[in-house]
Amino acid sequence: MGCLKQKEESLVPSEINRHDEQLCLQFVWPDGVDVMIPYRVVRLACPCAHCVDEWTGKPLLDPDTVPEDIAIESMELRGNYALKISWTDGHDTGLYTWARLSSITRSDQL
Ligand SMILES: [Zn+2]
Repeated sequence: MGCLKQKEESLVPSEINRHDEQLCLQFVWPDGVDVMIPYRVVRLACPCAHCVDEWTGKPLLDPDTVPEDIAIESMELRGNYALKISWTDGHDTGLYTWARLSSITRSDQL
């Protein structure tokens, strides 16, 4: 048994809240994990084909091109498996699955 237990049901967030004044996205997971992730961290973790090489997983996005004060233009749920975010830098092709968001929010805690 490791210290990282991830059950299937813990992969769907119970709450996602925008905090535009702090430029943070808050995720509450069913297992009690409650985290605030800076928008920029979420933007840099964009999994789309423009930001990450689909085959090698190599990051293609240059962090220097993402403004420090990047914010969310709009976001919407895609089915019940992902969140689509449109960013103020004009980037809107990223689809963040719950698994992706879970790994972003949990790795940020360390
Ligand atoms: Zn992207």
